[in-house]
Amino acid sequence: MLLKITDLPESDVFRKLSLGVFDLENPKFLKFIELLANLNHSDKIPSKHCRACGKMYADLHEYIWDTEAKGQTMEDVGGVMGKAYTMLYRNCSCGNTLVLTLTGDNFPELSEFWDMIKQESKDRQLPVKTIVSAFMADWEHFIEKQTKKNKKITRKL
Ligand SMILES: [Zn+2]
Repeated sequence: MLLKITDLPESDVFRKLSLGVFDLENPKFLKFIELLANLNHSDKIPSKHCRACGKMYADLHEYIWDTEAKGQTMEDVGGVMGKAYTMLYRNCSCGNTLVLTLTGDNFPELSEFWDMIKQESKDRQLPVKTIVSAFMADWEHFIEKQTKKNKKITRKL
């Protein structure tokens, strides 16, 4: 779905302009974003603690939402590790880089995820890095919407 720039909230405009990708909520991404939401509700991802400033990230969503993407945000190192293995790099608000790993153990769909990313890269003739950035933008957007929803529900109760 293509959106006009005027349809997007200001923050999204800047995000999408910087990526050069204007379609929000790619349906191919959504399946994996939902799987990651399930993973977030499991206890397979331990809470993250910044050793530099002491800030705690209780779960995967808080880690993604409360940190800033850094350069190569998500790296497939499966080839080096000899198994499904992905590293996420995000910066804490203090500037310290926090690394989180996804493997076939905590995220069984990891290989399938990278197949989808590579296929999107081929179909759109864009570098894998750009597709990963677009995925991260959609993931952040999803968490943002979820968090707002949760906050509203809490207020009602
Ligand atoms: Zn920190």
